[in-house]
Amino acid sequence: MDTGQPASSIAHLCGFLFVFDDLQQGIDIFDGKEVGNIYSRFGNPTVDSVASKIARLESIDLEQTATGLLTSSGMSAIALVAMGMLQPGDTLLTHPDLYGGTVALFRDVLQPLGIQLLTTDLRDDEGLVALLEARSDIRMIYCETPSNPLLRCIDLGKIAAFAKAFDCHTLVDNTFATPVLQRPLALGVDFVIHSTTKYLNGHGTGTGGVVVSLDMEAMQSRLLPKLRLLGGTASPWEAWLIHNGMKTLPLRMERHSQNAEIIANMLEKHPRVKSVHYPGLISHPDYELAQRQMQAAGGMLSFDLGGRDAAIRFVNALQLCTLTPTLGDVDTLVIHPATMSHRALAPEVRAALGISDGLVRLSVGIEDVADLLSDLVQALEVV
Ligand code: PLP
Repeated sequence: MDTGQPASSIAHLCGFLFVFDDLQQGIDIFDGKEVGNIYSRFGNPTVDSVASKIARLESIDLEQTATGLLTSSGMSAIALVAMGMLQPGDTLLTHPDLYGGTVALFRDVLQPLGIQLLTTDLRDDEGLVALLEARSDIRMIYCETPSNPLLRCIDLGKIAAFAKAFDCHTLVDNTFATPVLQRPLALGVDFVIHSTTKYLNGHGTGTGGVVVSLDMEAMQSRLLPKLRLLGGTASPWEAWLIHNGMKTLPLRMERHSQNAEIIANMLEKHPRVKSVHYPGLISHPDYELAQRQMQAAGGMLSFDLGGRDAAIRFVNALQLCTLTPTLGDVDTLVIHPATMSHRALAPEVRAALGISDGLVRLSVGIEDVADLLSDLVQALEVV
């Protein structure tokens, strides 16, 4: 269709390309003598404003405001920090209970680059300090809290302090909690990442990630150049969807947490459920830490139905809850970790972690909780 406008101005209207008035202006912008946009992989106003909105939320209670880099996915956010801050010969120390894709990223991408991997229980203070004392090659500690899928919590203030004492960086995946419920930077953590695909977008309409840090120097000189070269930048369209989703983030997180607590209590009393993992339950091993570290326990929980067949029958019987391998949406989503999010792990590794074949993970949505309870109860009848 001929709109009567030159192609360059139409591209400009779409918000992806930037048009220079003349060659001199282009040169000045490239040289940094004039402030301006060049090309969306290098930077884009919509992308930058959403990154800074998330960074401001993550540092809301601090004197210094954090900076953020929006990425094309949560995985690219994790890879960016690890590849930007670690070198061959360095060791990355992680907690065992992590999203399966992250474990595969470390094993299949970082390890072949010469970055060694080590796993330890980060809740064991003495063991962690002994390891940091013995291994000066440990340059970064990585964890999720609450973790995927067992919702274990890690004391961020403690690991950040231990890491600092040994001149080591910390990187925390705050996807499950969001900055509304937990702010790792305030506890001394160096880098925070999110899969914005999840709660920050909140509506299952896009894939994205973000890195946030108070370390301007590292963000500007180590991570941003790599992000541009690796091409992991977010698109302005995805950024706009995150921007829209974030308008309701505090309201959603409150409702997700309320609904999840009610459901966790129901499941804990149900005779067909072997165990429930939810940091808002008094029976959860990290209940006190979660109370201290989080504003509320969030919308994620998992529970064990005792075996693979029971899990399959339960998931297939659900009518309102949706079977889909993601989380953090307004709708209630269910997965079977052993065959979905954690399929990249060997069965014996899953078993050692406690990710049994009977485990079901629920991302509790913001629907009417009575509807959710009746769907879950009718599906449990089939188990
Ligand atoms: N972190 C957690 C806790 C996740 O559950 C996921 C994906 O499910 C990721 C990171 C990766 O995010 P993305 O799928 O946006 O790359």
